[in-house]
Amino acid sequence: MATGKINVSVENIFPLIKKFLYSDHEIFLRELISNATDATLKLKHLTSIGEAKVEYGNPLIEVIVNKDDKQIRIIDQGVGMTEEEVKRYINEVAFSGAEEFLDKYKDAGKDAGIIGHFGLGFYSAFMVADKVEIITKTFGDETAVHWTCDGSPEFTIEKADKEDRGTEIILYIAEDSTEFLEDSRIRELLTKYNKFMPIPIKFGTKTE
Ligand code: ADP
Ligand code: MG
Repeated sequence: MATGKINVSVENIFPLIKKFLYSDHEIFLRELISNATDATLKLKHLTSIGEAKVEYGNPLIEVIVNKDDKQIRIIDQGVGMTEEEVKRYINEVAFSGAEEFLDKYKDAGKDAGIIGHFGLGFYSAFMVADKVEIITKTFGDETAVHWTCDGSPEFTIEKADKEDRGTEIILYIAEDSTEFLEDSRIRELLTKYNKFMPIPIKFGTKTE
């Protein structure tokens, strides 16, 4: 296992994100599903041009809520990430986006529409979770990777056992966000944000 420190000048960026976007915590689900969708469509493209030699099949995005463990999991069957890609896309890119965002929108932080433009997408998970894990495996014979971050700029990254291709995001829902552990609340958000998404979303027994 390796540990590292995310390169960011604002010492603890998450409380700031949380504060600025106070009224729009619910967009975390839209952001994570949009990433899962991108990853699935990317795999579709790579299989169609012969670059990923795997069966594309009929991939789903699955949302699982476990109220007892206070967890929400978002699971896709998309391209996944190598360890290098987690370091590059999650630790570096996402954080430079967050910094840029904070810099420019200190006063206008309530406008959630701007988040996506700054690559703050993934980090919106920390508006509702006090710990986030990524377990991801790309196609080919790369080993799976397990990334954990508790909302400080410190993260851990280690090898994982995941067999299936794709990415699982695990959110440990914070005490002040337990409303998102209610099935009805998640169902409401899925309807609101994801009605016309190209990849089917499975939640509970229903596929949207
Ligand atoms: P954006 O989607 O605007 O690029 P995000 O912060 O939402 O910014 O995500 C950062 C990057 O992390 C993505 O561009 C992608 O490379 C990677 N990523 C995030 N979620 C996934 C996922 N479920 N599967 C594969 N890669 C992902
Ligand atoms: Mg995104």
